[in-house]
Amino acid sequence: MRAIKGDLLVDANGVKKDPVLLVDEDKIVKVGSSSDVSIPSDAEVVDASGLFLMPGLIDCHVHFNGSVTGGLGNFRERFEARLVRSAVHETRALLDAGFTSVMDAGGLTGFHVRNAVNEGIVPGPRIVAAGRYMSVTGGHGDTHYLPLEWVKEGRPFGWGMDGRIADGVDECMRAVREQLREGVDFIKICTSGGGGSLRDPPQIPEYTYEEIKAMVHIAHSWGRKVMVHCYNPEAIRRSVTAGVDLVSHGNMADDASVKLMKEQGTIVVSTISVYHRMARRHAERGAQPASQPAARPRVSRMYDTLFDDIRRIHEGGVTLAAGTDTMGGGMPFGGNALEMELYVDGVGVEPLEAIRIGTLNGAKAMGMEDTLGTLEQGKLADIIAVAVNPLENIKGLQEKGNIKMVMKGGEVLKDELGK
Ligand SMILES: [Zn+2]
Repeated sequence: MRAIKGDLLVDANGVKKDPVLLVDEDKIVKVGSSSDVSIPSDAEVVDASGLFLMPGLIDCHVHFNGSVTGGLGNFRERFEARLVRSAVHETRALLDAGFTSVMDAGGLTGFHVRNAVNEGIVPGPRIVAAGRYMSVTGGHGDTHYLPLEWVKEGRPFGWGMDGRIADGVDECMRAVREQLREGVDFIKICTSGGGGSLRDPPQIPEYTYEEIKAMVHIAHSWGRKVMVHCYNPEAIRRSVTAGVDLVSHGNMADDASVKLMKEQGTIVVSTISVYHRMARRHAERGAQPASQPAARPRVSRMYDTLFDDIRRIHEGGVTLAAGTDTMGGGMPFGGNALEMELYVDGVGVEPLEAIRIGTLNGAKAMGMEDTLGTLEQGKLADIIAVAVNPLENIKGLQEKGNIKMVMKGGEVLKDELGK
């Protein structure tokens, strides 16, 4: 038994002063204030006094990718090298930043990294991974600058986030089954074009309703959730009516799409951070993505209205979960709490709401709200101790020096208490 003592507990349920949490094995068995929780005499005391206790942070959209620079530069190395760097560098960076759970929203390495973490080979956050994302020929998960046969063969070419091309209901169903055979935790489908796509801008709906419905049917039969990469209203309509659970990006949603997502209980995994970082990089360097010159005006147009768009989704009553689209390079692992700052400073939500979006709502997106996301009796002990009050300084969560202790499932994976 361990007893963790802090100054203030902050989770989606609110704040508690002088908190004490009793942790037995991997679970929280009691939460209260120091005046009403008696600490068993044999309990090991974890003294986080002066610190703020929070649930482990959750990012619902990352891509383990070896933290490579992106684009053609990735071709320099083999898949195995990227896998190793993803496992040792990116998992560590996430833990240091207080992230104890992430969803890998597509790519070749994610579920291998998950296995390495689950087998105890490397310390890392809890990972659920999508494997290759489904794409129509010429769609967002196609790699347009490679010969089509190469992409179809599905070799790991070096981009690291290679999709799985599937067209037509039969091929779509087979592709989902093949992903499940590989051991993925959820299915990711690109149902529209994308901000960074070479030839298919985000306004294009890609999969048909019938194709999406068939893929959702197989995934749900296996008890797996479906996330879509999706922007425009028509693609959102097809995806949500076909039964997908999570819409990632989603920021071009119109009022009807917002209403539909609210009615269906669809969760939107926003990715404000990736646009924020790209817009800032363009402004600083005047740089264009080397292989995607068409993407730059598209990204800045999207960024111009992004905060208003996300605010409209939030005000429409749709559940939002934090996702950053962290993929290395210009989107470094470890900077993932930026999303919560942007919710406060850009979208204009209260800090406690941003914390809910970055913790409990992430747990909901993962389907694990009964075991993760808040510091409550019976939940897994994913607990972080932070040197700044997140309600007053949400930006401070991005400074890894402020994250003094990280516990995942009762196991301490970072300990800088007293430093
Ligand atoms: Zn992504």
